[in-house]
Amino acid sequence: MKTRDEEALLSHIATLLGSPEHAGNPLRDALQDLYQQHCEQREQVQRLINISDRYQLLAMEARQVTQARYEDSLRRQRKLSRISDGYQALMRDRNRALHQASTHDPLTDLPNRRMISERLEALVNERRGFTLALLDIDHFKLINDCHGHDVGDRLLVAITRTLSTTLRDYDLCARWGGEEFLLLLANTDLDEAQPIVERLRACLADVTICTGDQKLSVTISAGLSQHRFGEPHQATIKRADQALLDAKRAGRNRCLSNIS
Ligand code: GH3
Ligand code: MG
Ligand code: MG
Repeated sequence: MKTRDEEALLSHIATLLGSPEHAGNPLRDALQDLYQQHCEQREQVQRLINISDRYQLLAMEARQVTQARYEDSLRRQRKLSRISDGYQALMRDRNRALHQASTHDPLTDLPNRRMISERLEALVNERRGFTLALLDIDHFKLINDCHGHDVGDRLLVAITRTLSTTLRDYDLCARWGGEEFLLLLANTDLDEAQPIVERLRACLADVTICTGDQKLSVTISAGLSQHRFGEPHQATIKRADQALLDAKRAGRNRCLSNIS
């Protein structure tokens, strides 16, 4: 029954029960009991509804608190992820920079002695053939003495740039010392290496830098040696160094091979 209908009926019954006109009616007491019982049950149902409403309210509040906590922890987790991503990217950059610094020369950006030594050791272990060329700029001290160290540096960088662009992709050239470069020609024997190094020397002799109204260029001496199977790479370098010394003694600006 609808609440409004029920209210009207109860009000009607209360009026009937209160009316002296029906005081002697034999059904009055039974109706009075029924009315009383109904009102009590109604109150009980209302109490139960109130309890249920409060419980639902509490459950909703608890759900909202849990949801807010969950969203808060999600936000914190995302922030931590962003910080961690940034930190990892920073570490990657640092590692890359460290690796670059430990394997390359800072002035010319060429591979350094450590890097080419590791490559040579790997080639020897893999039993792969190669020829080495040790290149040295002729009378480089004179450039420094006459024009200053900065000009010497600029010339070194210019020489390096031409070295890098003239070599084949699979060759490796390292800055071996001050004005010395070690060139690794993999899978190349002495006969094949000689014309390559001569071509390279010709290109390097064409490199010029300007200082004031002067154009500066240099010549290069080179010593070549082919790796002999079974020998450590240091022995091959030593023979290239000997050939370079011979080239210097023979008047510089030339390429000699060590075949002893
Ligand atoms: P040689 O023909 O016998 O090789 O004569 P050289 O003058 O080239 O050889 P020497 O060994 O007498 O001198 C090498 C010079 O190279 C001396 C040194 O100051 C210079 N040098 C080495 N490293 C650098 C560098 O990074 N920058 C500059 N500007 N000069 C350097
Ligand atoms: Mg020199
Ligand atoms: Mg030298």
